[in-house]
Formats: sequence, structure tokens, C-alpha cells
Amino acid sequence: MDKVMALCKRRGFIFPGSELYGGLNGTFDYGPLGVALKRNIMEAWWSLFHTKKRQLGVVALDSGVLMARRVWEKSGHLANFADPMSDCVKCKKRTRADHLIERLDNTIACGTFEQTVQAAAALQAQGRWQCPYCDHSPLGAPRLFNLLFPTKLGPLSSEETFFRPETAQGVYVNMPNLFSARGAVKLPVGVAQMGKAFRNEINPSHFVFRTREFEQMELQWFCEKQDEDKWHAFWVEECLKFVCSPEFCNLDPTKVRVRHHAKADLAHYASACADLEYCFPFGWGELCGVANRGDWDLKAHNVLHAVFKDQQVSCIEPSMGASRLMLAMLCDAMGQEEDHLVLRLGKNMCPTQLAIMPVVNNKPEVLAKTAQVYDSLAQALISPRDLEHLELDLSSGSIGKKYAKHDEIGTLMCMTVDSDTCIDGSVSVRKRDSGERVRIRVDGVRSLDDVMIAAAR
Ligand code: ATP
Repeated sequence: MDKVMALCKRRGFIFPGSELYGGLNGTFDYGPLGVALKRNIMEAWWSLFHTKKRQLGVVALDSGVLMARRVWEKSGHLANFADPMSDCVKCKKRTRADHLIERLDNTIACGTFEQTVQAAAALQAQGRWQCPYCDHSPLGAPRLFNLLFPTKLGPLSSEETFFRPETAQGVYVNMPNLFSARGAVKLPVGVAQMGKAFRNEINPSHFVFRTREFEQMELQWFCEKQDEDKWHAFWVEECLKFVCSPEFCNLDPTKVRVRHHAKADLAHYASACADLEYCFPFGWGELCGVANRGDWDLKAHNVLHAVFKDQQVSCIEPSMGASRLMLAMLCDAMGQEEDHLVLRLGKNMCPTQLAIMPVVNNKPEVLAKTAQVYDSLAQALISPRDLEHLELDLSSGSIGKKYAKHDEIGTLMCMTVDSDTCIDGSVSVRKRDSGERVRIRVDGVRSLDDVMIAAAR
């Protein structure tokens, strides 16, 4: 993790939030490469869960981060969206109680609040219920802390509401807007949404794994109740495909597992849930949850009948955090070459697929030719996304140092321009994963895939 964090800062993927003013716990800012990587993740999710599923009935929504307080009352978040925490009697720091119990003894059940209180009492009796931050001071009994972020609206600040802790509620409250024109809606249908979510986490931890502000990617899939198990299994498979397939996030499948929740572990709205977990350097952690929310939310907002009439409906929800997925991908892709790190990100995820550079910096004709090769390639590329994955690198330093830098940021291929390019138009392409260099011609290239194909010959 230390290596991942250092690389993220050094190369401009992720910076600590408000660093200039000493930092703000649980917040991070994304630099140029982080923006590109996060965008690749979110666009890939959108293509698999929205665009390619439109023929199944998935539509798009972008609802507000701010919604009426009543939304959170009705959804149950005001009453139930809480985690157990314990205060240190000495340093006053607060600890997420169930996480501490899991660390101390992972055989003790602490799915419900009552179980957490009992487990803490048992550990206290053994003298083990102690503050993890200061020197073995006793911890208080667990109590519930609501994770909603309160905020006040308008110049008089008279109306209080909350930043959304999940994008899903925006879908439920918009169901009559999305579907009312069509009469009783034929099942199944889905609504896909990506956007910011906010949780006042007790202990933000493990870099961007648990933050107070993060990007969620969620699908609400409404199906006939009798088909709920079939669709639940279908969306678990789609999530697995998304995180493991080389076309998408390319995580090592042996480091990904599916964990089905025990009834006691379920969120207040769920009747079943399967998590996809990744083996992070700090242990297994949730990447994504696929919950069966039944008709809980539709009934809570009283929209079930208006939209689905008398049909028996269940809502299956695959929900992922983009930054958690990014952390898993960075951990998974990181490797060590002789003297430098290398990020072996999947082809569609790397911020730069092709970097064009001169072999030396002190020959004006080579520099001019490099800019010319870049310009003609940029003009020839048909897809705008390809253009975003193309970079002109005129930075100083030896070619070896540049290759090492591009390995570290995951650049798939480096195209080097030299004196021969000035004579016959050929360039050298170095591949990140093999280090192999091949000579190719760039005339006729219309996509970055064409470059890869030419370099593979
Ligand atoms: P955890 O048990 O880790 O707190 P959760 O079960 O509360 O997570 P969900 O409510 O299922 O999480 O949220 C769906 C997804 O949103 C998670 O699988 C995760 O990828 C992401 N997510 C949730 N909380 C955070 C957070 N604080 N920081 C970053 N991503 C998060």
C-alpha cells in the first residue's frame, strides 16, 4: 500500500485532500492520471451496465446530490444508516467498533448492533476492549453513529437535509417521472446512475478504500419477484465480468471472491446481498455489493402501485465505488521491473495507451519529426477516445528514464522517433509488458489498435 500511495502522489494519480492546509481526513483529490483512470473505469461501467443493456430495458438518470429531508426519513436512512462506534475514555478518539472486533477476533459475530455490544462486552471482560490509537486505554461501549452528512439549505439555513449516501434513492423518487407515461411498466426494467455519494465514515481508512466522499456506480434492476434469484445471479456474474475481464478492470480472478451475507449482516433495506471482495494488501475488502432490495424502497416512497400496478416487484442493485475499484486495480497492476515499478493496467484502463517521444532531445530534426508524427497520428485517429489515450512526451531525460516513467504510469506502448524516421518514416514501438521493441510504419494507421496490431506482427 505504501508503494501504491507513493506512486499515486509522485505521478499525479491521487493527492491527499486539502494538503496545503494540513489535510482533511477521508478526502482525496485526483490529478491528471487519476482523472483519466477514474474516467476509464466509469465509462467502462456505463458501457456494460447501461449502454449494452439498453435492449434489456436499462435507462439513464442523473439525480441530485441534494434531496428533500423526507427522502431520507422515508428511505430509513435517518433511522438506520448508522455504524457502531466506541469512544476512548482517555484520548477521546472514536473507533468503528465492529471493525475492531473483527480485527481482534474474526470468529465473533458482530453483524447486528446487539451482537456488537455483546462482543465488545465479552472482549472487555477479557481486558481486550482497548483503544487502538493510544496506549491500551479502555474503550466505551459501542453506540450507533449515523453516517448521513447534514447540511443546511438557503440563506436562512432553516431547512436541514443531507448529502446523499447512495445514488439509489434518486432513482426510486423519480420512478413516476421515468415511467408514468407508459402505463403499468413491463418488467424487467432498470435505471443506471453514476455520481458522488457522501458518508460521514467513523474511520476513513486504507487510502481511497474508505473515504467520506466517493463516486458510486449503481443500477436499480426491477424484475418480477418470482425471477429475483435468477436476476441476482445474473448481476453477480456481470459484476464479476466487469472486475475481472481483461476488456474491463482486468483484476486477477484468484484475488476476487463472492461472499454471500448472513441475514444478520444485511442492510436495513435488503433481503439478500452478495459482495464481490478483493484481496487488498490489508486483507479482503468489499469492492461491490449486489443487493436484493425487494420492494422496500418502492413501498417506502409509495411509488410501487403508481408505476408497477399490482405486479410483484423486486429490485436487484449492483453497486460499486469507482475509487475502491481504482485502488484494487492499482494494487493488482503494480509490479517491479529491475529498477523501477510498472503498472500493468488493462488496455482500456491505462491513462495513456501510446506515448510518442524523440529518442534524443538534442537533435532539432528529430524533435520536429516527433511533433509531426504526433500531429499526423492525432489527425488520422478516428475515435476521440483514442486521441485522449495518445500523448506527446517532449520531457527532458534519457530514453531509458522515459520508458521507466511510462512503465510506472501504465503506458501501454512508447513510440520512439529517431533519425531513421526522418529518412524512411518508420518508428520504433516499445511494449510495456514485454519490453520488446519493434519497427513499424505509421502511414495507414487509423486507431491505436492498428498500432498494436502492427507492433504484434
Ligand atoms: P462497507 O461495508 O465497506 O462500509 P457498504 O457495504 O456500506 O461498504 P454499500 O452501501 O454496499 O457499501 O456501497 C456500495 C459500494 O460503494 C461499495 O461496495 C463500495 O465500493 C462503495 N463504497 C461504500 N462506502 C464507501 C466509502 N466510504 N469509500 C469508498 N467507497 C465506498
